[in-house]
Amino acid sequence: MAFRLPPLPYAADALAPHVSARTLELHHGKHHQAYVDTTNKLVAGTALDGLDLVEVIRRAKALGDDKLRNQAGQVWNHSFFWQCMAPGGGQPTGPMAERIEADFGGFDAFAKAFTEEAVVHFASGWAWLVMRGDKLEVVSLHDGDSPVAYDGVRPVLTLDVWEHAYYLDYQNKRPAFVEAFLNNLVDWEFAAENLDGAGAQRANQRP
Ligand code: MN
Repeated sequence: MAFRLPPLPYAADALAPHVSARTLELHHGKHHQAYVDTTNKLVAGTALDGLDLVEVIRRAKALGDDKLRNQAGQVWNHSFFWQCMAPGGGQPTGPMAERIEADFGGFDAFAKAFTEEAVVHFASGWAWLVMRGDKLEVVSLHDGDSPVAYDGVRPVLTLDVWEHAYYLDYQNKRPAFVEAFLNNLVDWEFAAENLDGAGAQRANQRP
């Protein structure tokens, strides 16, 4: 038994022109696939074989196995990230809008904080909107680190800011990619579902 590459929840050209079909084909079909394959190789025959993906990430962290933690984290992070986008994007409404208003002082302040975290993050990583306790927070994590590895941190929304996520479409202009994501790609309905605290399970899988 092994982990699998989850299908994209939309066609490869569905997010164009903000994310091109070529970028999505490579990012999902090559990069995400490679994280799945490497995770399967690292887990095979170990005591972690047969555990679900979130549990593998948490155990790898506890064991100090940074290679597996990053690879398995990347499998989960990408599986979550695809669901964070939808053609057309939009603005948060209802409870999600109210939470952003309460915790950031409005959408513009949230967007500013998220953009700063995504743009300033050095080298490879991810920008996250998470819940810690009842409060929404913007954080960034390095390499394949994942919020599901941390007690009490629950994922709501993420953006991949590794160069492979945007280089073909934006070259070195990471701020333009972040702006396109916030303005045209975020699936706020998916983010709102994650206010129930169960976001980790929405990208989890059993081998
Ligand atoms: Mn990626």
